[in-house]
Amino acid sequence: MQITSKLPNLEPSIFSVMGGLAHQYNAVNLSQGFPDFKGDQKLIDLVNKAMNDGHNHYAPMRGVFSLREAIANKYDRLYRSSYHPENEITITAGATQAIYAAITAFVKPNDEVLVLRPAYDCYIPTIELSGAKAISIQLTYPDYKVNWNEVKAKISSKTRMFIINTPHNPSGTVFSKADMMQLQEITKDTNIIVLSDEVYEHMVYDGEQHHSVCLFPELKSRSFISASFGKTFHNTGWKIGYACAPKYLMDEFVKVHEFSVFSIHHPTQKALAVYLETPSHYDELSAFFQTKRDLFLDLIKGSKFTFTPSKGTYFQALNYANITEENDYEFAVRLTKEKGIASIPFSVFNVNRLDEKMLRFCFAKTDDTLKRGAEILNSI
Ligand code: PMP
Ligand code: GLN
Repeated sequence: MQITSKLPNLEPSIFSVMGGLAHQYNAVNLSQGFPDFKGDQKLIDLVNKAMNDGHNHYAPMRGVFSLREAIANKYDRLYRSSYHPENEITITAGATQAIYAAITAFVKPNDEVLVLRPAYDCYIPTIELSGAKAISIQLTYPDYKVNWNEVKAKISSKTRMFIINTPHNPSGTVFSKADMMQLQEITKDTNIIVLSDEVYEHMVYDGEQHHSVCLFPELKSRSFISASFGKTFHNTGWKIGYACAPKYLMDEFVKVHEFSVFSIHHPTQKALAVYLETPSHYDELSAFFQTKRDLFLDLIKGSKFTFTPSKGTYFQALNYANITEENDYEFAVRLTKEKGIASIPFSVFNVNRLDEKMLRFCFAKTDDTLKRGAEILNSI
């Protein structure tokens, strides 16, 4: 039988490649973004309780109502922004499925979707599965700032969506209020839907603020937010997240959601609904991860790597131009095999594999792991 691949040029996921090598070479694994410590026992107990209480069958299609209410309360509390739990919030299988459903529901063949690069790896394949074209805007070392004039120049009558990600994986930069105002201005009076990937919302450092699209009324009216409980509550393997958007957008989103998963793991939703009632569970995250970032940076301050401290996410980007001319992919592979430390090379997220000698290290790790990692980095 002959088949035609819908994604003929897709390469193996960098997270599988580097994670596999880390395992094979028993390296300190700072590559894929997940914590190597256990999440809160209270949350695990709540999931167990929900299972024992019998919440083991299909959940409602849009998600358990009390969880949607808890999410609505969070947006009200943090941003004074209202999303109606009835029809403006949907629980998803991680942020990945929220992104998939948002793109698939609106993006048609020959549409264009603006993507800022380096870009998290699920955006472009999902755009291409819809038969549309990703229009890339490359952000560059050292500050990865958006040139809004370049964005304006790339908008056309075919532009259907603009995907942003703040705090930004992999650079660790965050959009300023001025960036958001520009975005709001540029998209005003257009048919562009904004997909705002905010999975690192609760990891913002040095007193900076997370500027969610929901804080800007005109922007909010055309935007989806994608979010991830896996990232927020240290259980990435649970694959549970959510999307928020105004009703007229969410009504279309759920048509894709319904036929890609229908509904999400029920007991976990019950547990998260209770867990979210305590704001400190997310309020304290930035301070928690800032301490880890500071420890990591303090430990490697004498190394040959150079850096700007991460402003958000749990990733630290390091530049190694002082060390070698090798391209970042080869260098990341060699560091794993020969030095015993795994990272993620930026180039896989860039236009034409642009190599700026940048590696991404995940600092959501125990202090012991960070110390072992730093020792190796200092020896290079
Ligand atoms: N967006 C970004 C920027 C990410 O780093 C990740 C990885 N967590 C996701 C989306 C996907 O999140 P999830 O694991 O909840 O699907
Ligand atoms: N979001 C995680 C990261 O950026 C990886 C998720 C995945 O493996 N697809 O490292």
